[in-house]
Amino acid sequence: MEDAHTLSRRSFLTGRATPDVAGIRPPGVSRSALEACTGCGACVESCPTGIISLVRSVPAIDFAAGECTFCGTCAKACPEPVFHQQSVRRFPHAVSISLGCFAKSGTACQSCGDACPEQAISFRPRIGGPFVPELNEAACTGCGACIGVCPAAAIGVAQRGDVHA
Ligand code: SF4
Ligand code: SF4
Ligand code: SF4
Repeated sequence: MEDAHTLSRRSFLTGRATPDVAGIRPPGVSRSALEACTGCGACVESCPTGIISLVRSVPAIDFAAGECTFCGTCAKACPEPVFHQQSVRRFPHAVSISLGCFAKSGTACQSCGDACPEQAISFRPRIGGPFVPELNEAACTGCGACIGVCPAAAIGVAQRGDVHA
């Protein structure tokens, strides 16, 4: 299975930052723990923001559908030993803002900053153009709230320490 970094890299190479689907596991699920998943779908049905679906019979998150609030409902709903970490408040990934961002190409937009619950995206003033978004990777939990709201589909997940901003 491809990891988030691979998908993000491809997205940037093709000029299209996707809200990635395959490979993003619910919070608290390790790759190896997925072997215990029976594909029952209990986590899918439990998620209040509707961002979990079964991809190749294991749970995967689609941030295009919404954000993770780290509510822990999926972990509680799962009858198998898949969720090894409880009360997780952070994903292994962060996000990355590509050059497809409207603000970077001259059209004012601050939707991602408005959506971020962690104030991890600030806007840097510049002469002769709209403010441009800058990510504070340390503050980013990877929740995905900024991804679906971006009108340019310019935000994707990225491995921490490898942000293409
Ligand atoms: S922690 Fe809550 S919002 Fe996040 S994937 Fe699980 S059920 Fe959905
Ligand atoms: S993924 Fe990071 S930058 Fe985006 S809304 Fe969540 S905390 Fe903010
Ligand atoms: S929401 Fe998208 S287009 Fe708007 S400032 Fe953020 S990254 Fe740029």
